[in-house]
Amino acid sequence: MFKKILVANRGEIAMRIIRACRELNIPTVAIYSEADSTGIYVKKADEAYQVGPGPVKGFLDGPQIVALAKRVGADAIHPGYGFLAENAEFASLCQASDLTFIGPSPQAIHLMGNKVEARKLAESVGVPIVPGTEGGISDVREGLRFAQKIGYPVIIKASAGGGGRGLRVVRSDDELRDQMDTCSREALASFGDGSIFIEKYIERPHHIEFQILGDRHGNIIHLGERDCSIQRRHQKLIEIAPSLVLTPALREEMGAAAARLAKAVDYDNAGTVEFLLDQEGRYYFIEMNPRVQVEHTVTEQITAIDIVRAQITIAAGEPLDVTQSDVHFIAYAIQCRINAEDPKNNFRPCTGTVTAYLSPGGIGVRIDGAVYKDYTISPYYDPLLAKLTVRGRTWEETVSRMHRSLEEYVLRGVKTTIPYMKAIMQDPDFREGRFDTSYIETHPQLLD
Ligand code: ADP
Repeated sequence: MFKKILVANRGEIAMRIIRACRELNIPTVAIYSEADSTGIYVKKADEAYQVGPGPVKGFLDGPQIVALAKRVGADAIHPGYGFLAENAEFASLCQASDLTFIGPSPQAIHLMGNKVEARKLAESVGVPIVPGTEGGISDVREGLRFAQKIGYPVIIKASAGGGGRGLRVVRSDDELRDQMDTCSREALASFGDGSIFIEKYIERPHHIEFQILGDRHGNIIHLGERDCSIQRRHQKLIEIAPSLVLTPALREEMGAAAARLAKAVDYDNAGTVEFLLDQEGRYYFIEMNPRVQVEHTVTEQITAIDIVRAQITIAAGEPLDVTQSDVHFIAYAIQCRINAEDPKNNFRPCTGTVTAYLSPGGIGVRIDGAVYKDYTISPYYDPLLAKLTVRGRTWEETVSRMHRSLEEYVLRGVKTTIPYMKAIMQDPDFREGRFDTSYIETHPQLLD
């Protein structure tokens, strides 16, 4: 097992990793920026060092982080999500410096970082993909030809995109002509790669994703699915597990497809294979994320498997201690992202200082957060303050428990998504499982 793990992240996911390390008795090293020096995760790690310059650059500076890890005697680095988590070059640098990168191989990260390549691979192993252009496109005429053939609406995507950025739904030739260049320019600015492709836009799908765990001995299993259809601007807000719409047969088929894709790249460690499920029950691969995801908590709550612990033991070379037939769902779970943002103002991020804080508790309630009284929310980072995850024996019980927990939650001084989440938990459509990716847009009354 590792002697010491450097956590190359901040906020709630840094706390999550530190907790897993504590349970495994592995000392941890945190990194922080000047803006973040009072963070809880900084105090909870065994050692902490400031990186820089500025609030963000230090978290993205691979060579600086590797040099620090070597200096303090760490032998592994956990990247969390965001920052360097999907940077194949960083994973290679770790390898070359004799440090274990807690994640998949640089080759798998590289391949999955390009949606066009990932689509090709999926197709080659018989995993259905959304109808789309065969590869990247640069010519408007090519885009128009595809859209006219497949029919509008279509969605323009950045090949290297992520986090809901670089996506554009277009409904006519004119819009397509307008948006193709803009999309490519934005992709270049955000991801350093301007290549784009086009997919058929599926109306009102469910976003269904499968959690994969693979070890370094060729074992690959899935831990079932999450339904992440409650989204705004193509970004997830509420995630549930298991899905309320999958039949056991479809679960088995999609899970096998996800595992097959992972196998095709000799995948090891935790990863997520994302699909869209259309109104007719057909599923299509959209992308694979080679890292732990924000919403891994709901899977942990329904399977009792600690995904971050598994990431660490897998990276240390241990075989998986569960097989596919050991995986059972013991509950329903819902995660609400408690963000510092104003739902009534188009979910704009808010800054401020938390003046009162008391998190909910009781049966089936889990908080993954890094927020406390006097915590200052700066504009530099993601607005995620905490993740509230609850579980229950039935869907109805789980929704009621989430509502009760949101009512208990005290977080003052800054606008959050808590009141909006409460309204969702009382909405008959949500309570009866009637939701797809259009839910937020089609339920504007919940903002009142
Ligand atoms: P990102 O990598 O930026 O998260 P994804 O490709 O995973 O982008 O898509 C994010 C979300 O955008 C999906 O969960 C879904 O709601 C929507 N989306 C993506 N592709 C399509 C599509 N072809 N049709 C309909 N919705 C889509």
